[in-house]
Amino acid sequence: MAEKTYLGPQGIIEKKKKYIMPCLAHFYREPRQFVRGSMQYLYDSEGKQYLDCFAGVSVINCGHCNPEINAKVTEQVNTLQHVCNIYLTENFVNLAEKLAEVTPGDLQKSFFCSTGTEANEGAALLAQIYTGRSEFIALRNGLHGRTKLTMSLTGIGMWRTDPNPVGGISFAPNPYCYRCPLGKKYPECDLACANAVEDIIKTATSGQPAAFIAESIQGNAGIVVPPEGYFQRVKEILSHYGALFIVDEVQTGFARTGKMFAIENFDVVPDIMSMAKALGNGAPISAFISTAEIADKYTRPGASTLGGNPVSSTAGLAVLEYIEEHKLMENANARGQQLRAGLRELQKKHPIIGDIRGLGLMDGAEFVKPDGSPAPEELDSVLEAMKDRGFIIGKNGIGRNVMAFQPPLVITEENINEVLNALDMVLTEQNL
Ligand code: PLP
Repeated sequence: MAEKTYLGPQGIIEKKKKYIMPCLAHFYREPRQFVRGSMQYLYDSEGKQYLDCFAGVSVINCGHCNPEINAKVTEQVNTLQHVCNIYLTENFVNLAEKLAEVTPGDLQKSFFCSTGTEANEGAALLAQIYTGRSEFIALRNGLHGRTKLTMSLTGIGMWRTDPNPVGGISFAPNPYCYRCPLGKKYPECDLACANAVEDIIKTATSGQPAAFIAESIQGNAGIVVPPEGYFQRVKEILSHYGALFIVDEVQTGFARTGKMFAIENFDVVPDIMSMAKALGNGAPISAFISTAEIADKYTRPGASTLGGNPVSSTAGLAVLEYIEEHKLMENANARGQQLRAGLRELQKKHPIIGDIRGLGLMDGAEFVKPDGSPAPEELDSVLEAMKDRGFIIGKNGIGRNVMAFQPPLVITEENINEVLNALDMVLTEQNL
């Protein structure tokens, strides 16, 4: 067989400049071309191996090209790919039944689509249909998507490209204890950020918002984990005003945080949940799910051409089976604890690490200058050096200064030690 030739990083960058809209940026000063993946590893066009610690932004929870999942997907691809769910096929109803089983509370009825954006857009529509109301409350620094409404619900300036966002959306301060937007300290604050939701309902809305939408852990904001009691307080306020709670589990779902869904870490049951990314482990599938009472109000025609497609539904079913059979929730918990403990050791030697936070394998290390301000250039330089040593680590945060660890959940104890050792060496080399 002839050896495969590749465009290579420069060739891709040139074509990208010419044929791809310039809004799409890429990571790294010297990016690589990835050509192959196998579980927690990636390989570039020159054959170099990398430990993937970002999983395509929390998508590849079960590992790249997972053979057990791909065998089922391949069989489905070769049997029946698509008819549209206006005709009867069985995988999407089986997947919906499984989602009803693994989601918290009495969430029961699903609508399938293809991206996280679409799932949030649908979740917001369902909240409006059920309540007959139109306004929303979202969180500052939250991210929910790219369409008109989901971009308007997004509270990060960098991702709010639309020059004319829709109205009727108010933003509450996010529960970011390391840099509290209200300048307070937990727990003396008495959850002032949660209480602010009530002030906002009273002062900035008609008093009757349709819903509050939030990520259970804010991903793009820099792995912002709410303090204990936050979601419970918000839910009480919402119930008082008859507003629904939509939780965005697009980035946090499917065992990532040590539970099937991150909101389960906070003992709160949402009214509507959106999910995407890891549900397909690389196959494009997303969904929003709600209780029968809420969902049953969505009676006017609604369908998505590719939603619940036999191939992507097969991927979803295979992912859920893999997570349970291979105990990925347990591994996410154990490896996450190991990682955060190791990062805390590094923090003692390397003052650039200002804060470490996370749950399971959704963890962030915030890089700060001596005065506590964000250190994005230092982070970029460390990420570049880590890549050269064979480790792909993510980046997020409002100041683009949070090192993000969201690896495939099949990562091993030895892998975590390797990444911690390499990080220690790079931070030492760079005098950080
Ligand atoms: N919601 C969250 C929390 C996300 O992180 C993202 C994407 O990163 C989205 C929604 C949008 O998902 P998609 O890019 O699949 O449309």
